[in-house]
Amino acid sequence: SDFETLTKDAARAYELDQRHVFHSWLAQEGRTPMVVTRAEGSYIWDENDAKLLDFTSQLVFTNLGHQHPRIVRAIQEQAAVLATVAPGYVNGTRSEAARLIASHTPEGLDRIFFTNGGADANEHAIRMARLHTGRPKVLSRYRSYHGGTQLAVNVTGDWRRWANDQAAQGVVHFFGPYSYRSAFSSTGEEEECRRALEHLERVIELEGPATIAAIILESVPGTAGIMVPPPGYLRGVRELCDRHGIVYIADEVMAGFGRTGKWFATEHGPIVPDLLTFAKGVNSGYVPLGGVAISDPIYRTFAGTVYPGGLTYSGHPLGCAAAVAAIGAMEDDRVVEHAAALGKEVFGPGLARLAEQHEWIGEARGVGAFWAVELVADPATREPLDAATIGRIVAACREGGLLPMVNANRLHLVPPLTASTSEVTTALEILDRALTSVSGS
Ligand code: PLP
Repeated sequence: SDFETLTKDAARAYELDQRHVFHSWLAQEGRTPMVVTRAEGSYIWDENDAKLLDFTSQLVFTNLGHQHPRIVRAIQEQAAVLATVAPGYVNGTRSEAARLIASHTPEGLDRIFFTNGGADANEHAIRMARLHTGRPKVLSRYRSYHGGTQLAVNVTGDWRRWANDQAAQGVVHFFGPYSYRSAFSSTGEEEECRRALEHLERVIELEGPATIAAIILESVPGTAGIMVPPPGYLRGVRELCDRHGIVYIADEVMAGFGRTGKWFATEHGPIVPDLLTFAKGVNSGYVPLGGVAISDPIYRTFAGTVYPGGLTYSGHPLGCAAAVAAIGAMEDDRVVEHAAALGKEVFGPGLARLAEQHEWIGEARGVGAFWAVELVADPATREPLDAATIGRIVAACREGGLLPMVNANRLHLVPPLTASTSEVTTALEILDRALTSVSGS
C-alpha cells in the first residue's frame, strides 16, 4: 500500500520531516532523530534496518507491544462499521470501553469522561475538582509530569513548567518521597514517608485547607524517575485529603493499565482516589485516547448542573475500539500478572546484580515493567553521571540491540508488559555489556 511505502522509505520520510514537521520539547535543528520503519511485539527497526528491543514502549504507552493483532483488527473493523461519531450521540463501542475501564478502576469510580490524552484528562479532572469543591488551588509534587497543555504543564513539577509559569493560577508544589535524593535528609524509607507526609500537611495548613480543591499525584512518578512511594505514603495523602475535604486526583496516565503489575498503581496503597486519570496503556496508544474515572459524589455534582467542558473527539469510536481490544487482551492473556512477575523475578534480581557489578549504578528501582537505573559518577556523593558518558552508554546499548529511555542521568527500562522473560534478560545483558565497555571495567 501507499502507507507501507511511506513508512518504509526512510530517506524520504527523514527529508520531509526535516522540512515540514515541527517536533515537541526540542530546538528544531541540530538533531538526527531515528526513523521507525517497522515494529512488532517488543521490537522496532530503524532506518538502517537495525532491530532494537523497544524498552521505551515509545513514550511508555505500547503496553501490549507493537502491532498487536487484536488491537489492529479492532481498529480496522470499527473503521469499517462506524469510523467516527460526535460525543453527544450514544455509541456502543464507547459504552463498552467505559464499562470495561470502570470494571478495573478502584471501587466506585464508575463514570468515565473520555479525552484525547493524558494532559486534557488532568485538565478536566482539575476543573471537576474546582467546581465540585468551589475552591481554587491545586497541589502537586515537584518531580512530576502531568502534561503539556497550559494548566497541566503548570501542575507539572519539572523544568517544562518554567517557560509557562505566567499562567500558574493557584498551583502550589510540594516535595514527595524520593529516598535516594531525600528533600528531608531522611536516612530510610519509613522516615522519608513520615517526613514527606508531615511536609505535605504543613503545606496544606499554610496554604489554607479551605482554598485547596485538589491534590494531583502520580501514584508512581514516571518521567520524573519512577520513584515507587514507600508503603503508607498514598494512604497518608488520602487521609489528609479526607480530613480537609480535598479531592484526590490519581494521575495513572503512565502507571495505570498494568505498568506496575496492578491494573492501577493506586492498588499498591491501596487507596481509592476521587478522580483517576488515564491514557497511554488504556489502548496501548494505538489511537489517541485518555479519560477521567469519576467517583459518585463528584458525578452527582454534575447530575443536575451542566459540566462546562467537552471535546470534539471525546470517546472516539476508533480509540474506544482499540481500548476494548486492549483490555480484553490484557484480561485473557493475564498481562498484568505477567508484568508483576517480570518485576519480581527478572528486573528486580537482574538489576540488583548489575548494581553490584557497576559503580555507575547508584540505584536501580521500580516495580512491574517500570524501572529506572540512576547513573552516578560517584556512589558516595550520588553526583549524576555526565551527559556525554551517558550518551556513550546509550550508544553502546543501541549497538547491542537495546533502545532504553533516557531522562536526565537515568535510563528508564519500560518495555511492553508483554515482553518475555528472555527479552528482558537479553536487555539486561546488553546493558551490562554496554556499561562494561564504556567504563572499561
Ligand atoms: N500524566 C503523566 C503521568 C504522564 O506520564 C503524561 C505523559 O507522559 C501525561 C500526564 C500527559 O499525557 P499526554 O502526553 O497524553 O497529554
